[in-house]
Amino acid sequence: MQTPLDQQPRASLGFFPTPLIELSRLSRFLGGPRILMKRDDQTGLALGGNKTRKLEYLVGAALAAGCDTLITGGAAQSNHCRQTAAAAAASGLACHLVLGGEAPEMPDGNLLLDQLLGAQIHWSGELRKGERIPEIAEQLRAAGDQPYIVPYGGSNAIGALGYVNAAAELKQQLDEQSLQINRMLFASSSGGTHAGLIVGTYQYELRCEVAGISIDKDEAGDGPYPEYLSQLANETADLLGIGQRFDSSAITLQDQFTGAGYGVVGELEREAIKLLATHEGILVDPVYTGRAMGALLQLIEQGVYTKDETLLFWHTGGAPALFPYASSLINPGR
Ligand SMILES: *Cc1c(COP(=O)(O)O)cnc(C)c1O
Repeated sequence: MQTPLDQQPRASLGFFPTPLIELSRLSRFLGGPRILMKRDDQTGLALGGNKTRKLEYLVGAALAAGCDTLITGGAAQSNHCRQTAAAAAASGLACHLVLGGEAPEMPDGNLLLDQLLGAQIHWSGELRKGERIPEIAEQLRAAGDQPYIVPYGGSNAIGALGYVNAAAELKQQLDEQSLQINRMLFASSSGGTHAGLIVGTYQYELRCEVAGISIDKDEAGDGPYPEYLSQLANETADLLGIGQRFDSSAITLQDQFTGAGYGVVGELEREAIKLLATHEGILVDPVYTGRAMGALLQLIEQGVYTKDETLLFWHTGGAPALFPYASSLINPGR
């Protein structure tokens, strides 16, 4: 039977299901709890990551609307922008990226990949959240192109469908392996992953806590993040004809790990990156998954998460940013 989710336009961009693995060496080192990892760093599109799932629905919508160009924005080392550039190339679309900062002499990490993937880059100085997207979309329209605006982080209700679907995928894997989880944890920043997982966990009855680890401090003018997440979850539910409402008071957000701010690597991230690399051979990234994994480790250490639980960590990708962050990862504090 076709569900409302099956009826949404969707482009095939990645390899699914992503692996569900157990971090048994890490668990043993910590003395518990049991920790599972959902490998969304292995979605397969140009080094992978959580944006592949969102882009399947966003590119589906762009193609259905007859557009010929994707436009989006973010920080210079945005994983979302790199994935969008790859999604555009794989779908025969042009791609324009509006990036914060200035052009460096030599591109590295995600920025290098953006260029290899053929994206056209517009530098926008202080503005790293795609604020100039409407202006550039207007210029493209005036030149006769038909741009589709992919929102910052791919996070609107259409993009969030990717994580409603991811919850269904996870539910099936857990059932097949007779596993149950008490909590799922993940890095939460532009909100599409979080909102999609809230709706999907409800819809597919995963019966676990959905805990986002905040990566960004609330910035002036953005409004409170839980209110925004609630609104995005409700819009996503509406798109699927789900009547349930998701109140901001019921949203779990761990927001005490934002450290010195977005993209600033501290001891928390360095330790987590090292621990996962040396105990599991898994690379987490300096901006998102290193911070979220560091938070998970602290919450275990503080006894907030107890040894008898089963936790699931979503590895949302980001490893290409390890390279440009080399100097904060090795010999920090110089
Ligand atoms: C974008 C991103 C996130 C955050 O996901 P949102 O849906 O924006 O909240 C987490 N991890 C990585 C590696 C990302 O690139």
